[in-house]
Amino acid sequence: MTPRRASRQIVVGDDRVGRVAIGGGLAAGHPMARAGSGGLEAPPSEIAPVTVQTMTAGYTHAIDKCVAEIHKLTAAGADIVRVAVPEKKDTEALKEILAQTTVPIVADVHFHFKRALEAVEAGVHKIRLNPGNINDRAQVIEVIQACKDANLPIRVGVNEGSIIERRDKQKRAKELGAMFSEHKNGYLLAIMIAKLEEYLDIFYEQDFHDIAISAKSMDATMVIDAYTEISKRFNHPLHLGVTHAGPKETGCIRSVVALGTLLANGIGDTIRISYANDPIYEVQDGLELLYTLGLRERKGAELIACPTCGRIQVDLFSLVQEVRAKLESDIQVPMKVAVMGCVVNGPGEAEGADVAVFAGDRRGIIYVQGEKVANVNEDEILDRLLKECLAFQDAVRAGAAKLGEKKVDIVPPDPLGELGSGWEKMAAERIKGADLTIGQS
Ligand code: SF4
Repeated sequence: MTPRRASRQIVVGDDRVGRVAIGGGLAAGHPMARAGSGGLEAPPSEIAPVTVQTMTAGYTHAIDKCVAEIHKLTAAGADIVRVAVPEKKDTEALKEILAQTTVPIVADVHFHFKRALEAVEAGVHKIRLNPGNINDRAQVIEVIQACKDANLPIRVGVNEGSIIERRDKQKRAKELGAMFSEHKNGYLLAIMIAKLEEYLDIFYEQDFHDIAISAKSMDATMVIDAYTEISKRFNHPLHLGVTHAGPKETGCIRSVVALGTLLANGIGDTIRISYANDPIYEVQDGLELLYTLGLRERKGAELIACPTCGRIQVDLFSLVQEVRAKLESDIQVPMKVAVMGCVVNGPGEAEGADVAVFAGDRRGIIYVQGEKVANVNEDEILDRLLKECLAFQDAVRAGAAKLGEKKVDIVPPDPLGELGSGWEKMAAERIKGADLTIGQS
């Protein structure tokens, strides 16, 4: 992992909903202090943890439904929620939505700069502008002034799909492509950067620097290239995303490849994973990505499970899904829980986990921090495992147990005895003609 890139910092929110910092760590003497913008006078800020954003899928003017969706996304762990404001009735709804929600809200503005002014007036916490469709200089300046007066940051979000002026695409491609000839998507990248530079100049002329930048594409390689270049040219915090990533099943791979690569390289201050699905998955998967990279501290349990193989003698897939659901609803401390199929890798994972089970022939042995606490039938595994997780959570909260502390070394049980499995025994019995189908109780 490369250390996080230093940037300016923006802060989104207010006293009521709390303030969420994005980026930071840039000191005046830093080589990037003057990058893109006109210098940096502010004292260096601590670099903030990477945050997770999402966007509501319903109509903003449907106030009750919008508020309910924001509550759901907040409960799932979204740090910031964005809402679309295509019409005046949407910005008119904002005041009420803001009064009823407890997370910083961003107004996503396209085409109509007046929506941005109305959103600022309503008390929104940040504005997103798209240089591809709000590019009248006087209008942009009006929005900048309104945000400056209200002390609000702006995200300048270019999207591959909306920056390319179709009429002069070929000409611009020729002119600019040479700049990034080493990249597969050289000309697109050049247009994106040129568009950003041109747009940000308007902000700098107004002495406005509370800016986050995004440069999204549906192509993961383009996203990696674009943010890598942008991170070297501008000192603003970066909002990462793959746009139009598609359904969750494939969009997840696209997003994780692009965002994971950038984050591992120290690039990215806030992320939005986007799926053609319920945005709750965007929040869950965004958080999981950050936990996996060690960029955020996990709030609930971490589940480790084996993929199963020809040694499995319990219904592990169902068990894992049930354990996952229970852990999600009942466990709020970052304990490690392992659900393993057999004695081959079970003891190793159980040793590293706080609570673990590894299975045998329709049985499971349960461990808490390396100590064996039960040997139960398959149909009792879920309840007993969860009971141990809850007891362990209580012990951690009471200060009687420490996360990640192993008390004893696990001695792997004899697969022929305690676990009732023993593939050699089974093979021998099969040879003798015994009817012992794998998995049969
Ligand atoms: S733990 Fe056992 S059942 Fe699971 S994958 Fe490993 S060898 Fe197979």
